[in-house]
Amino acid sequence: MSSKVEHILQHYFGYHSFRPGQAETINHVLHKKNTLAVMPTGSGKSLCYQIPSLAKEGTAIIISPLISLMKDQVDALQSLGINATFINSSLSVAEQQIRLEQMLAGKCKFVYVAPERFESSYFVHMIKRIQLSLVAFDEAHCISQWGHDFRPSYRSVVPILKQLSNIPVFVALTATATKEVISDIQDLLQINNEYVVTTGFERENLSFYLVKGKDKATYIRSFLKEHPNDSGIIYTATRKQADKLYEQLNKLGVSVEKYHAGLSETERKNAQSAFIHDEKTVMVATNAFGMGIDKSNVRYVIHYAMPMNIESYYQEAGRAGRDGEPSDCILLFSPQDVQLQKFLIEQSEMDEPSKQNEYRKLQAMINYCHTHSCLSAFILDYFGDKNIHACGRCSHCQSNQEKTDMTVEAQMILSCVKRMGERFGVSMTAKVLRGSKDKKVISFRLDTLSTYGILSNYTEKELTEWIHFLIAEQLLDTEEGKYPTIKLNQHSVEVLKGKRKVWMLSAPIPVHDDTDYDKGLFAELRTVRKDLADANNVPPYVLFSDATLRDLCRYFPI
Ligand code: ADP
Ligand code: MG
Ligand code: ZN
Repeated sequence: MSSKVEHILQHYFGYHSFRPGQAETINHVLHKKNTLAVMPTGSGKSLCYQIPSLAKEGTAIIISPLISLMKDQVDALQSLGINATFINSSLSVAEQQIRLEQMLAGKCKFVYVAPERFESSYFVHMIKRIQLSLVAFDEAHCISQWGHDFRPSYRSVVPILKQLSNIPVFVALTATATKEVISDIQDLLQINNEYVVTTGFERENLSFYLVKGKDKATYIRSFLKEHPNDSGIIYTATRKQADKLYEQLNKLGVSVEKYHAGLSETERKNAQSAFIHDEKTVMVATNAFGMGIDKSNVRYVIHYAMPMNIESYYQEAGRAGRDGEPSDCILLFSPQDVQLQKFLIEQSEMDEPSKQNEYRKLQAMINYCHTHSCLSAFILDYFGDKNIHACGRCSHCQSNQEKTDMTVEAQMILSCVKRMGERFGVSMTAKVLRGSKDKKVISFRLDTLSTYGILSNYTEKELTEWIHFLIAEQLLDTEEGKYPTIKLNQHSVEVLKGKRKVWMLSAPIPVHDDTDYDKGLFAELRTVRKDLADANNVPPYVLFSDATLRDLCRYFPI
């Protein structure tokens, strides 16, 4: 690394050494190679474009998805004595013009803009006339349909930029590491494999916890009692959940704010500011909150419900502990969360292949909620991290319960799947194992199978959980889709042949319990449906009948 770059690191930023991935990225960019840096949240991606630009002549244009994000970045640079600005719709037209002229005069080292800015031919004309050092795509996963936060304008800006002849180099930065997203970004920005810089994804100060089978509100209350002064975020799956939890906590006297897309811009701004400046301790929010928010002392992130995929989960949970101090990421899971996410995918306006892709990603998230392996290792494996080992910190690693050998029961489940012809889903299989008199079981004549009722001392719910565990541990395969069917794989065969043992953290205790459907979730889905119907100006039943909703609220229907 050149001494100039080291000097910039120390002189401007006051740091003595680079973090993993930074030097490599900076080096590629300085050599005008289009580069993609895939590094976890809080790892210092900003420096990867800031330092090369400072080392070169010219202005860096940074494309950034959120106005709040731009302001924070610009403030941070200005406090270091670096000339930076942003141009966006939050400014008056006169102020925008002033800033454009400063840019044209070559006075700005960094200009942050939203991609939509390039839809103005006037702006494009201005850009053509200045000397550029680079163009950076922050949060570059927004470019890809496969990402969890696709923004069409992020994609459509690319052809416009490619027509400009004065861009020396592109640099893209993201914390999302799935293969599809990476190769999509590479294709669009013409980035060769050798210029994709990926660092390990493990965040060693984060401890992951999975909490199941507890009342969520009660859990949160006692957690907050134990951590009264720690700053934390609680993510909910819907606005309604956020409103409700906020009310509950507020009543209890918790120092809490809320944030979701249903609030006015001013309300959101005030809530965010109170939280960032430690005036309020807890933020209850939907996923609308947090992208790019650089609050270093978030001690915990609790997910009140399972998010729709692991990318979103890791990004949201990763907002804890950006200062490197030990922090907790807690996911409160209940089976209803799965139905809610399926419902959200089903009613979205995505085309069929995209929906299938969402279901596939959701399945991995469901697996996370049923694995008995190290939670951190599970996530790293999902992202293709090569350096995988048990973390020793997560709820599963810490669980000092003895593991139980459940090979025999697993064999019963697997042979039942086989006898059912691998044509059914989790719920039907659980019903058959339980010996249920369900109409569908009878009509498919599944009650005549030799495996019918062989695990009748367990409840349907437990058997369901059990099958999900086998899927999560890859001892069973599942086909993608809304109601996936389950199939045997190579590993199942090994278990059936007695060549492989199956261990569980704690085996379900046989008890009797019959759950019809979840009424709370039903009420919630109805409000989601009503909002949707209102927005589309149609009567609610056109979208989903009550019977369908009730079906969705039964545990894992086939
Ligand atoms: P990201 O965009 O990857 O989430 P940021 O660029 O916002 O992360 O950086 C996160 C924090 O790490 C910032 O406070 C930044 O100043 C700090 N940081 C970045 N690089 C270094 C470094 N080499 N040494 C120490 N701190 C660093
Ligand atoms: Mg960033
Ligand atoms: Zn672990």
